[in-house]
Amino acid sequence: MRILSGIQPSGKLHLGNYFGMMKRMVDYQENNELYAFIVNYHALTSVFDAKKLQEGTFNAACDFLALGMDPEKSTFWVQSDVPEVTELTWLLSNVTSMGLLERAHAYKDKVVKGIPATHGLFSYPVLMAADILAYGGERVPVGKDQKQHIEIARDIAERFNATYGETFVLPEEDIEEEIATVPGIDGQKMSKSYGNTIEIFADEETLRKKVMSIVTDTTPVDEPKPIENNTLYEIYSLFLNPAEKEELKDRFLTPGLKYGEVKKELFGMIWEYFRPYREKRKGYANDRGEVMNILQKGANKARETASHYVQLARKNVGLYYWD
Ligand code: ATP
Ligand code: MG
Repeated sequence: MRILSGIQPSGKLHLGNYFGMMKRMVDYQENNELYAFIVNYHALTSVFDAKKLQEGTFNAACDFLALGMDPEKSTFWVQSDVPEVTELTWLLSNVTSMGLLERAHAYKDKVVKGIPATHGLFSYPVLMAADILAYGGERVPVGKDQKQHIEIARDIAERFNATYGETFVLPEEDIEEEIATVPGIDGQKMSKSYGNTIEIFADEETLRKKVMSIVTDTTPVDEPKPIENNTLYEIYSLFLNPAEKEELKDRFLTPGLKYGEVKKELFGMIWEYFRPYREKRKGYANDRGEVMNILQKGANKARETASHYVQLARKNVGLYYWD
């Protein structure tokens, strides 16, 4: 099975990215053909500082490699190193109805949060469709926030195939229900661009402060705590197996639990969980040459696949005027 997914270098990696997508990607590479990339063209919709984008891209590469992305087994690259996807975006744009994009929640959510309402942000799902279709992605592991975008990609592929003849593979989203949307410290979806993240590679003090500032309700200590829509409970659960989750549930439902204590425990757990990755990450962060080398090789592999689909699309729409 060909698995494909990307992450934007729009800020620092957080628990939502890790559990929603990256951890699953790394696990998939054992038995599947994995395509993983850093979508810097997409990040241009919210990052308007060149230096920030450059640094974010390098950092995202170090993150992914530290977390277990194996560039020998998988294809790992930076989106803009295969610029053919932007051409494909144009070819797809002409079979993408305005209504399809107007219904996209992510666009509206981002505009409400202050991200500029540009044409780029509006057509984000078309570029995303091009990314998936250019590489023949069959399954796309994502968080729930991206479900609609994958449906849009599938709709666009169907429409293209129906208009010009069989060209693209129809992709399917792959969402883990248990961790579909990881909440941020303010209780809303954790997002790099919303400033509500718990960054997995933050230094100890920053991480502690973030965890201690997770929103909690005002239930008195000597009363049972709610577990529905309880951000602290949801984040803590990410690190537990089913039996441990049951225990946590009991603790919340038993009067006497202090949120402050639970936060301290959670901080300790996050810090320990990512310790080995943190160490590994230092190695990559200090070896820019090696990281660049890996990304270049990845881009070469990725381009081979993309050129197959992009050339087929060019031909099928009639751009080969000499034929
Ligand atoms: P931005 O705010 O710039 O959109 P983001 O934090 O949403 O950034 P993306 O790069 O857009 O991160 O998404 C990378 C992957 O992480 C996607 O598969 C997305 O579904 C997943 N993801 C992002 N946030 C969460 C979350 N809170 N819970 C689960 N998965 C998430
Ligand atoms: Mg996002």
